[in-house]
Amino acid sequence: MALVAVTEITKSYQRGPETIHAVRSVSFELHSGQVCALIGPSGSGKSTVLNIICGWESPDAGTRAWKGDKVIDPRTLDWSHIGLVPQRLGLLEDLTIAENIELPLVLLGGNPEDVAGKSGEILSALDLSGLRDRLPAETSLGEQQRACIARALVAEPELVLADEPTGNQDHVRETKVLARFRAAAAGGAACLLATHNPAVLERCDRILEMHDGELVSDTQSDPLAVARADWAPDRTTKR
Ligand code: ADP
Ligand code: MG
Repeated sequence: MALVAVTEITKSYQRGPETIHAVRSVSFELHSGQVCALIGPSGSGKSTVLNIICGWESPDAGTRAWKGDKVIDPRTLDWSHIGLVPQRLGLLEDLTIAENIELPLVLLGGNPEDVAGKSGEILSALDLSGLRDRLPAETSLGEQQRACIARALVAEPELVLADEPTGNQDHVRETKVLARFRAAAAGGAACLLATHNPAVLERCDRILEMHDGELVSDTQSDPLAVARADWAPDRTTKR
């Protein structure tokens, strides 16, 4: 059974006299254990699709279903269901980097030892340990983006929605970020990454392509190619 199914979702915006057809009758399913890329030119509707799936926006028509027939109701989904990496990040400016990352676990009622253990592990994996006590404003955009990714993944959500998650990363950090998405999928999550980055596409199981609000292709990647791309960073360091 699909974790998420969107069926013929449509969304338009009115800008003055102009109607913008951001998403036109898009249907697809997301399955646990897969990392999917959502690609397409700027303005093709990728962010709108993510926002509709997470419940930030409602479609004008069409349905969103969670695990079969249950319609997605954002009020019933928490950080253990959906981990979100919005394009504008949305870190809380008054909380430190570590507190931002721990927030989902705290909201879910995690005990302090467990919260500290999980956040320490992901801080380290994403090269953020030295920044744990800084406010977001005292860090670079790339560091803020990794903190946002850590916040999305720390509660091991069933669905990960990430909007351009490698946009501000250098090659080494990009590899670490992608490894965390793959690890989340290996642990059973479904990941949907809106991206322009060819390095991300290499490591995805499936590529959904949008153009002008429509889904124009849905391609499964060669599993061996994905496995080779996953191993590439290790091969380079051992050489
Ligand atoms: P992408 O993420 O692929 O760049 P978006 O989903 O952000 O595309 O946007 C799709 C189209 O909808 C674009 O033309 C964009 O300008 C428009 N759009 C998105 N959000 C709004 C909004 N809140 N109001 C008006 N137009 C919007
Ligand atoms: Mg976008």
